[in-house]
Amino acid sequence: MNKLSQIDKDPRSFWRKTAKRRDPFPTLGQDVETTVLIVGGGFTGLSTARDLLKRDVDCIVMEARDIGWGASGRTGGFAVPRFKMNYSDLARDFGEKTALDLFGKAIEAVDSIAETVAEFDIDCGFQRDGHLTPAHTIKALRGLKEDQAWLRDVAGDTAVRVLDAEETADALGSPVYRGAYLDPRAACLHPKDYTHGLAAALASRGVRIFVDSPVKTLVRDDGRWLAQTPEGAVRARHVVLASNAYTTPLVEGSTLHRRIIPVSSSVITTRPLNDTERKMTLPIGLPVTDARRLVRYFRMLPTGQLLFGGRGDITGRRKDEAAYRPLEQQLAETFPHLAGIEIHERWSGKVAVTLDSFPHIGRLDEDVHYALGYGGRGVALSSIMGRRLAERIAGDRTDMGPMEDAGFGSVPFHALRRTGMQMMARYYQLRDSFEQ
Ligand SMILES: Cc1cc2nc3c(=O)[nH]c(=O)nc-3n(C[C@H](O)[C@H](O)[C@H](O)COP(=O)(O)OP(=O)(O)OC[C@H]3O[C@@H](n4cnc5c(N)ncnc54)[C@H](O)[C@@H]3O)c2cc1C
Repeated sequence: MNKLSQIDKDPRSFWRKTAKRRDPFPTLGQDVETTVLIVGGGFTGLSTARDLLKRDVDCIVMEARDIGWGASGRTGGFAVPRFKMNYSDLARDFGEKTALDLFGKAIEAVDSIAETVAEFDIDCGFQRDGHLTPAHTIKALRGLKEDQAWLRDVAGDTAVRVLDAEETADALGSPVYRGAYLDPRAACLHPKDYTHGLAAALASRGVRIFVDSPVKTLVRDDGRWLAQTPEGAVRARHVVLASNAYTTPLVEGSTLHRRIIPVSSSVITTRPLNDTERKMTLPIGLPVTDARRLVRYFRMLPTGQLLFGGRGDITGRRKDEAAYRPLEQQLAETFPHLAGIEIHERWSGKVAVTLDSFPHIGRLDEDVHYALGYGGRGVALSSIMGRRLAERIAGDRTDMGPMEDAGFGSVPFHALRRTGMQMMARYYQLRDSFEQ
């Protein structure tokens, strides 16, 4: 493995520290040809490669750093069958047929991860026991109850349960929530072990994967796409851009990078909890993402540590420990008995936010496809986006409803996104605490 992947691998992350050791992937050092070039070795890129492999379509994955180096290897690892918006709200805004279709896709997304783990026998701590969405306000709880009623009455789905305030406090070991929505179909996993395990399985079946191989330029050349890396080149018929929040303007004239706002999400882990703390903290043992606009998410780790994520420094520019203080404060608010607890790991990564809160799939050119913009919901959704990208390249027609590229334009005043983001975060934070 060369220098780049050794020095810049989010070394502070719990996932990095506990990932299983695997053989490293090579760096591209020559000129090669393929049918599909995939730019980005995270969940989206690897899921696309997985489904291209099923269809016997030759592909190459090019990753600038290391497999799972981006958001995919830093996430909380929750695969939840929900969008940012409630299903009842989606039904109101887009009609019942579309909302039903989105619900089907969200379930398919989590199912597809379960299938991938089973098919490739990926040892990544995958557990499908459910997930809780607790409500911090009466209004948020009302929304979750409406969602449960909509699923029951319109989708005929009775899997979801809504817990009252007392049950929620018992389940979470936290006094701050008014109730919670429990979906037993959600899953969680070790994200580095999933990405590395999937990449290794794909490579053993013939998919060529290169790390420390950033695509620097991508140009049309004699009816094909030519991607140049520092030490080699790839010639391909199709290209998939799977670079999410790390997207740069690779294709001339493309505005893709201006259609998303990269926002930093931060995570801390505590020291291992002692027996008393353990009994008082998340006794239900399920992962949690609350219903705030600026979400807080947490889960117990196999080491007995609590992982707690949310907003640190949303610009992602600050790397010092002080940038994680807001998160430590949120942890103390959520679990007062853990106030001031020693923090073991701190890390952050970038999510791609879109104006309509949907991820999007589309084409920049006849042969250049993309899928990105998952916000904090990419673990599950990227898995079906990869599937759809592969289907489209193979010539199938697929319809992803509001996630298609129609109307997915540039963010106004994109150059001012950092200031805008900070103002927006402050506004959301005020609304969250005001409503509470
Ligand atoms: C801290 C954090 C916690 C999160 N928690 C959750 C969660 O619990 N549940 C959930 O559903 N979602 C969560 N998310 C969001 C989720 O992780 C992302 O939506 C998802 O990982 C996106 O996957 P991706 O493959 O599209 O992008 P990434 O994983 O970001 O991968 C993009 C890759 O492209 C590479 N790349 C970019 N440009 C080039 C180039 N020119 N050449 C080659 N390679 C290139 C990058 O190096 C990067 O590795 C979280 C995100 C963060 C940051």
